[in-house]
This record gives sequence, C-alpha cells and structure tokens, in this order.
Amino acid sequence: MNTQASKEAFSQAQKLIPGGVNSPVRAFKSVGGTPIFITEGKGAYISDVDGNKYVDFVQSWGPLIFGHRDEKIEAAVIDAVKHGLSFGAPTLAETELAKLVVSFFDSIDKVRFVSSGTEAVMSAIRLARGFTSRDDIVKFTGCYHGHSDALLVEAGSGAATFGNPSSPGVPADFTKHTLLAEYNNIESVKKCFADSNDIACVIIEPIAGNMGLVPADKEFLHELRELCDKNGALLIFDEVMSGFRGSVNGAESITGVKPDIVTLGKVIGGGMPVGAFGARAEIMAKLSPEGPVYQAGTLSGNPVAMAAGYAALSKLKANAQVISVLETRAKRLVEGMKAEALACGITMQTDVRGSMFGFFFNDNLVKNFNDATKSDAELFAKFHSGMLNEGFYFACSLYETGFISTAITDEMIEDTIKASAKVFKEIANA
Ligand SMILES: *Cc1c(COP(=O)(O)O)cnc(C)c1O
Repeated sequence: MNTQASKEAFSQAQKLIPGGVNSPVRAFKSVGGTPIFITEGKGAYISDVDGNKYVDFVQSWGPLIFGHRDEKIEAAVIDAVKHGLSFGAPTLAETELAKLVVSFFDSIDKVRFVSSGTEAVMSAIRLARGFTSRDDIVKFTGCYHGHSDALLVEAGSGAATFGNPSSPGVPADFTKHTLLAEYNNIESVKKCFADSNDIACVIIEPIAGNMGLVPADKEFLHELRELCDKNGALLIFDEVMSGFRGSVNGAESITGVKPDIVTLGKVIGGGMPVGAFGARAEIMAKLSPEGPVYQAGTLSGNPVAMAAGYAALSKLKANAQVISVLETRAKRLVEGMKAEALACGITMQTDVRGSMFGFFFNDNLVKNFNDATKSDAELFAKFHSGMLNEGFYFACSLYETGFISTAITDEMIEDTIKASAKVFKEIANA
C-alpha cells in the first residue's frame, strides 16, 4: 500500500499544527506509522490522499451510525445551510431536536444543547454541583469524559495511550475534588463515600468505550444507584459515545438503572459538532436562565448542526430495530476474528453492545482499566497496520471502541474476518 502522500501531508501538518493533528489520538502514536489523510467518505468507505480505500470501523469516532454521506442527513444539512449558518437566536430546529431526544430517554424531561461532548459533561458536572450544593465528584479510572480540568484525571482514550493520565497545565487544586474509583468495583465507590460527605455526583460511562469496550456489570450499576440515593448524590451517565449506539433508548433501557443526568454527543449531531445534557425537569430548572447555574454557548443549538442531528435521530426513531441488526453484525465480526486469532495461537477477549464492538489481545477477561492495560499493545499495533494494509480502517489505539454503521454489509464483515485471518497468520509466522 502506498502512503507517500499521507506521509508528506503529515510532515507539512506537523510544521503548523502540534503533532500534526487537532486531537491527539489521530496521530497514530500508539500504533506507530503515520496517520492516513482522508479526502472523502461514502457509505462504509473512506478514501485517502494516496487513493487508497478502506472499510471504516472508526466512523469519526462514533457519530456516523448511518455511514458517510447518508442521503437524509446530507440533504438536511444542505437545506439548513441555505437558510443561514448561525443566528445566536432561538430556532424551531432546537425544539424539534429536543423533543426527539426527550422521546428516546425516560430520564430526560429537558435538554440543553452544546457543541461537544466535553462541554456537555463539564456543564453536567456544574449542574450536579449546583443542584446538590456539594463540591466533590467521583469518576472511574479509565473512563474518559472530555478534556476539562476536573475530569482529566486517570482518563482513558488518548490520555491513557500517552501515559499522562492527568496533564500538565491542570492545577492540583482543580482536581482535588475529583475522587477516583475502580470500574466494576463497588467497594472502591463505597470508600469514596466513606472518605467524603460532600459528593455531588458519580459520573460513569455505563458502557465504557474509552479503555477499549468495557461494559459495566448490571449489578454494579444497580449498587451504584443505591449508593448515590443513600448519600444524596446524583448519578450521571456519560453516554456521549454509547448514546444511540448501545441502545436507542440509552443504557438505562438495557440495565434498568435510571441516571439523574445523561450526557450525549457524537451520534446526536449526525456528524456535526453537537453535545447535550439532559435530566428531569427539577434538575434542569437549576440551569440559567431558569435557575442560577450558568452555562452558555455562542454556537450552541447551531441550526446546521441541529438539522444534521434531527435527520440522524429521526432516522433512528423510524428504524429502531437497526441496533439489533448492527449488534448481530458486530458479534459476527468479533467472534469471527477471535476464532481466526485462536487458530494462530492468539487469545482475544471480545465484547459487543449494540453497534459498538471491542477486542483485547489479552488472556483474561477485562473488567476495568487495570485489566485493559495488561493487553498486548505490540500485537495490537501489528494487527492495526496489517488490517490497514488490507484496506480496513480500525481505531489506532487499543483503548478505543470499534463501530459498525448501517453501511457496513454482512459481506464486508466476512471480508474483514478473512483479512484478519491473513494478518494473524503473518503475525504468527513472523
Ligand atoms: C468522546 C467522549 C467525550 C468527549 O466528547 P468530545 O466531543 O470529544 O468533546 C466525553 N465522554 C465520552 C464518554 C466520550 O466518548
């Protein structure tokens, strides 16, 4: 595979943009090699500046559940553009999207739109603190909630890849209210509540996707809910990634555990920058201008972004069964790859939730971040570059989740499994 043009593009970009990218994980650092520069996407495929074509299992890190250039979403965006890019004043599109979001989630009466997942979570935390008049928050090691100061502690995703769990530039004073617990370990949460009587909220990815895919045990979430209730703390489900991916009605619909606040992003914008947070009316009433907790955004509720989100979510609403179709495909993919790996003496742990799939090169089941770090990173890097060579674009870090879109067919899944067999053989015989 020729990647000369991508290499040149990357070297030009590095002169002008730190690390050549506008979000660290894109730099391919943890798998070596240089990132592929993309020119366009169509359906299941993306193409690069060298003219290579790949089946895309990244989908812009989650948003594109209907693949690239979905006709409905594209038409809605073009129509919105023709009416003006932004007004900074209310539009009907915001109410329409809000109505749709509320209809998906039992726990959401009202919703506020922002422009990224980071913003959604940051604002949800402020709201939880304002609502409870408490300062401390509990987060889980390996969960990623965006790059705001208080949450950039033992975060997964890019931060995990780079081995600097916190970050220079975040004053220790700003994270002293952030307590850490271990995922799927209720005792570690009990310890936080024993250590502090000032806990405003516990925030969790109910289907963690930023330490690889590690779903929370149902029992654990139920116990978490009870602990929060007992101690007067709010429970926040960060569904920026899992929202509309794990299930159309949120993790609450598959676990039976109702959160107090839900944060959303990625799929909700249909590929445009949209984030959101929602809760029952009593909590949302604390938010400015209804209440005293301040939160704002010049481009929040942007009409073009709202149009894309509305087109994506209304399509999901009309085709809710699509999630189980995608889940079947995702299962076939990881089980197929796992069998091919095993035939070459390589052990894989795999999991699927809706259209999200994950795999670890690990001899043991992965239940938390510590388990995830014991996966074979070198093997992952070889797998990644081998699959890229075969025309399959997987996330360039072992701490990321894979995604199936409706544009990925059963035949493409079989082709991916066949390619993985070839790559595993090459790895085993090297
Ligand atoms: C991606 C993600 C975020 C951050 O969203 P951005 O849009 O990248 O700011 C927050 N939480 C979770 C669970 C995510 O997956």
